Amino acid sequence: MTEHQPELSASDQMIERAVSGEGIQHWLKISAAWLALQEPERLFPTLVSSFAEHLPAVRTVILWLVTTGGLQPVAHAGFTIPSAISEHWLRVRLRPGEGAAGLAWQRETVIQQHGEHGYRELQGIASPQAQTVFQAIGDLLPRSLLVTAIPLRAGHTLVGVLELASNANEPLGIEMADFEVIAGIVAAAIRNAQLYDELRRSHQRLKAFDAVVTSISTAADLPDLVQSVLTVVLELTPAQSGALLIFDPAQERLQVSAWCNIDLTALACFDQVSVDATPCAEVVRYGQPAFRPLLSERGESALIEAGMAAAAYLPLLAGGTVTGVLALFGDIELTKAIDKDMLMPICNQVGFAIANVRLYEDSQHERRKFHTVIESIAEGVLLCDRYGRLTLANQAAHDLLSCATLSFETPLATVPDLYDLRDLDGNALTPDDLPFTRALRGETFYDYRVMRRLPDNSERFFSFSGAPAVNEQGEVEGAVITFRDITATQKVQRAKDEFLAVAAHELRSPLAAVRSYADLLLRREQQREGDHRDLHGLTILSQQVAHMLRLVDNLLDVSRLDAGQFDLQYQQVNLVGLAQQVIDQQRPNAGQRDLLLEAESAELMVTCDAMRIRQVLTNLISNAIKYSPPDSVISVRLRSATLLNNNAPAVLISVSDQGPGIPPEEQERVFQRYYRAPGRRAEGLGLGLYLSREIVQLHGGQIWIESREGQGSTFMVLLPVERMQRSRTERMNRSFELSAEI
Ligand code: ADP
Repeated sequence: MTEHQPELSASDQMIERAVSGEGIQHWLKISAAWLALQEPERLFPTLVSSFAEHLPAVRTVILWLVTTGGLQPVAHAGFTIPSAISEHWLRVRLRPGEGAAGLAWQRETVIQQHGEHGYRELQGIASPQAQTVFQAIGDLLPRSLLVTAIPLRAGHTLVGVLELASNANEPLGIEMADFEVIAGIVAAAIRNAQLYDELRRSHQRLKAFDAVVTSISTAADLPDLVQSVLTVVLELTPAQSGALLIFDPAQERLQVSAWCNIDLTALACFDQVSVDATPCAEVVRYGQPAFRPLLSERGESALIEAGMAAAAYLPLLAGGTVTGVLALFGDIELTKAIDKDMLMPICNQVGFAIANVRLYEDSQHERRKFHTVIESIAEGVLLCDRYGRLTLANQAAHDLLSCATLSFETPLATVPDLYDLRDLDGNALTPDDLPFTRALRGETFYDYRVMRRLPDNSERFFSFSGAPAVNEQGEVEGAVITFRDITATQKVQRAKDEFLAVAAHELRSPLAAVRSYADLLLRREQQREGDHRDLHGLTILSQQVAHMLRLVDNLLDVSRLDAGQFDLQYQQVNLVGLAQQVIDQQRPNAGQRDLLLEAESAELMVTCDAMRIRQVLTNLISNAIKYSPPDSVISVRLRSATLLNNNAPAVLISVSDQGPGIPPEEQERVFQRYYRAPGRRAEGLGLGLYLSREIVQLHGGQIWIESREGQGSTFMVLLPVERMQRSRTERMNRSFELSAEI
């Protein structure tokens, strides 16, 4: 084998030039036809056959094009590919320097190899696969040959190499300089066709994308979506059959959700088996596509039996998450023919669509669950948005309010008479006092009792609880209200209150008489000379009767409050003196406990009902004694302050103990009528704090608790210095609070 420029005799050269002179004209005519051919599939065969036809010495022509994998043969003339090497032919890629074509590519110059030992010998170094191909082609050619490889350059880009094998002893029939000109035209035609092809492909991709997007957007549900996507994709690709597999991450399984032109039995290797056992496990695991021939060792024999030879498995991705796999099957050409760049964006689109449908289905499922729960609640449930417009009402709410239709459009606060809600005294609720308005204001409340008067003048009582619905930013987005009918309970409670009022009334006079005599006997016994045998018994009698009288008085106070007959006798009172008196009175009951009084000054005057405020202080201090350990300290503090709502001058009284404390959820409840914390053994009716709050509020003051469980309690009372006119809302609040659990 030698590498040389062809040596021609002088006469041969003259003949050549003459031929070439006509030749270049001739070639220019031929090349004009090439430029008119835009489709690569038409241009490439035309190119090679032009050279095979018009250069008589040429035996074979191969057009090699530069691809990412190396030089790839895309067209040939002068020989038929023997079937034994057809697969090698499809796969052969020359690296730079491999074969004559690879050498021309590497050196970017015309290479001519001339020799007597056949085609394969002239190709020089090559990979085993290329050698097999060269050998098979060489078998069809004489041993004495000239191989010419001419690089095809379009501008600065080397697009490929044209390789001709011609009889060694015949002139090629074209002068090298002319050939290089023609090669330039060939390269331009190829580039042109490649650009055209790219354009055509991107147009096709766009169309394909459009078709898929249309099928996604018109699909009614997931099965419909996957089926129509698969049909569209199969039309766009050279695949003969395919399947769409949906990935269930919880079960780690794939499910064949759509299939086309293939029997479901051939797809059994994918369906409902662990992902790792399927032939496309790595596609799901790594989210990368796989293009490969089918292999029975991979469990794909059923597909092979169905007549398929190769597969393309493409992940359906939603962001980084695999939601499924598109599996396409076809002949061995499939892996090469499939347009990955077209399919990947489609697969992403489908991946997202699947994720969306799933999300939608999940949310629908949750919604159904939510509705079932809400509907099965026996209490009325109402939800409203931040504007107070009803967004949900369960059946119980409709039934309880006996409204055929609830207003869903108008903010509830603007239709207060929609439910005709009233306070327990029968006054219509103002928009501000509607349960919704309270919850939207940010209030959380329980057992807010209201009344509804029905057209037949009967009354129904409801207990409302409500809370604002707050988003992550802490903004109120709406409100949730639950309510139940407590008419029966309310009636029983009224009956009970009436009974207790009568009983208390009847008990008071005899008890008062017993108390007077008990006290008298006690005093006599104390003053008697000699032994005091009965002193202990009489002391207990007197204390117990006094206690019974206090209970009865409390009950009578409650009935007075209910009847609106709780009148206050205002007078100027020095609270410091009053507190001192109460402390002195309570001291005998305090045992070892230390009772301290701290006052900002010796005199803190307020206008109040001295007897009632004494009642409040007695109750708070006796509770502090009742609910705190024997050796602890109880402090009563007084100082000037202002009211929380209107800054009016006031006196702040605080009673602190070192008892068990009151948990936050109970702090509101302890003020309810008859409320006693569970497990408290100390005696009482649960009326002390209720009456204390009533009395303080009737004075226009405020009362609340500051306490942490296990760290003692402090009861705070703010009493206005001047007598105050009570506002309507306060009066209303009082009527809500009148209610309590039996
Ligand atoms: P009574 O003391 O008669 O039960 P009250 O209305 O005075 O009724 O008090 C209601 C409930 O509040 C009590 O049963 C008790 O559980 C709780 N309580 C009141 N004062 C205190 C306190 N200082 N420490 C702890 N719990 C208290």
